[in-house]
Amino acid sequence: MKTPLVEIDGDEMTRVLWDVVKERLILPFVDLKTEYYDLGLMNRDATDDAVSAESARAILRLGVGVKCATITSNAARQEEYGLKKLHPSPNATIRAILDGTVFRRPIAVSRIRPSVSCWKKPIVIGRHAYGDVYRAAEMAVGKGRVELVYTPAEGGPQRRITVADFDGPGVVQGMHNTEASIRSFARACFLYALEEKLPLWFAAKDTISKTYDGRFKEIFGEVYENEFKAACEAAGISYFYTLIDDAVARVVKGEGGFLWACKNYDGDVMSDMIASAAGSLAMMTSVLVSPSGAFEYEAAHGTVQRHYYKWKQGEKTSTNPAALIFAWTGALAKRAELDGIPELASFARRLEAATLAAIEGGEMTGDLAKLSVPAPAEAAPVRPLDSWEFIGAVANKLGEP
Ligand code: NAP
Ligand code: MG
Repeated sequence: MKTPLVEIDGDEMTRVLWDVVKERLILPFVDLKTEYYDLGLMNRDATDDAVSAESARAILRLGVGVKCATITSNAARQEEYGLKKLHPSPNATIRAILDGTVFRRPIAVSRIRPSVSCWKKPIVIGRHAYGDVYRAAEMAVGKGRVELVYTPAEGGPQRRITVADFDGPGVVQGMHNTEASIRSFARACFLYALEEKLPLWFAAKDTISKTYDGRFKEIFGEVYENEFKAACEAAGISYFYTLIDDAVARVVKGEGGFLWACKNYDGDVMSDMIASAAGSLAMMTSVLVSPSGAFEYEAAHGTVQRHYYKWKQGEKTSTNPAALIFAWTGALAKRAELDGIPELASFARRLEAATLAAIEGGEMTGDLAKLSVPAPAEAAPVRPLDSWEFIGAVANKLGEP
């Protein structure tokens, strides 16, 4: 390797498996260089959480990071770990510094069938992570008038419109977004679509919300025309805008294989629907793409606390490391691309293929064994493995270093 990867360690079961994956599947094959940040809860507390922001700035500086799942502290965790105080979610801290959009993509294996039978290829969700209902002001009101009032910072007359004249009790909500945030969301989506060679869909409800959703549609259109059209055409990537209800109908009837850019609320709801319909949270990968071109790879799931407590009591748990392995391969492949190291890119592809081959061959962790469809007569029967055995099975498929 030339440039180091930003390696961000985390907590509990994923921290335990992080080392096993590195020892067995990465270090024997790769001359690994990393800049290491320990975001384990105790170290975040010891550094007054400075380490979280430092790790994010390192990703901006070096371009690529790989992150282990981390505990978001709450009152129960404060007591469990004897924390000085509660710190914000490291993911929120990192996302704020990278100004990023999160893309979630399921790892497809033939033995785990999506609940939607026509889906043949993964559907990737890109969720806008700023504003709308998540930053809304709300009020319960009685009889009377509610208005929106805008006071320009540069002076000039106020603008006001009536939201509603209430005859009796009701509720109101005021929400917002910024053009800068919508624009960087659109850019991240086009960058990801080009990167992954996926068609891009964006959907909103501009027929009803002509100004608000209308502006989202216009900005996506402008960003496409002015910044990405030529690159998309050269790469054979299409951009498609439709109404959100039409998009939902098409998603369920289609075969998948595209990036679905979603407004914040749509992304919240649809990403859970896609994750559950695709199979398992343990098979969901996640990458944070910054508009400045920095990338952070991780598994979408958390620290798998329940399994960690069992492991601490000496049990070899059957925690699925697939998404964690794919976080490493995503980061290594990206590093390979940026630094022009074809051997590293081909190793990342080999490790992904070995992971899939183990699962397809019936060697899988318990979560997948439960979901797996009966093997065809000629296929190997399912063998539920613990995490260490599964990682060993992947190492066997990889062969000699
Ligand atoms: P979780 O760690 O995602 O686990 C929830 C349940 O999903 C597990 O108990 C397990 O079910 C199943 N599961 C998740 N990943 C799995 C895997 N790799 N293999 C097998 N089963 C898996 O969510 P959580 O328990 O709600 O959260 C635990 C901690 O993670 C919290 O402190 C939270 O703050 C943190 N978290 C971090 C991130 C992140 O850093 N990106 C994301 C989410 C949550 P069974 O118990 O039924 O086997
Ligand atoms: Mg949700």
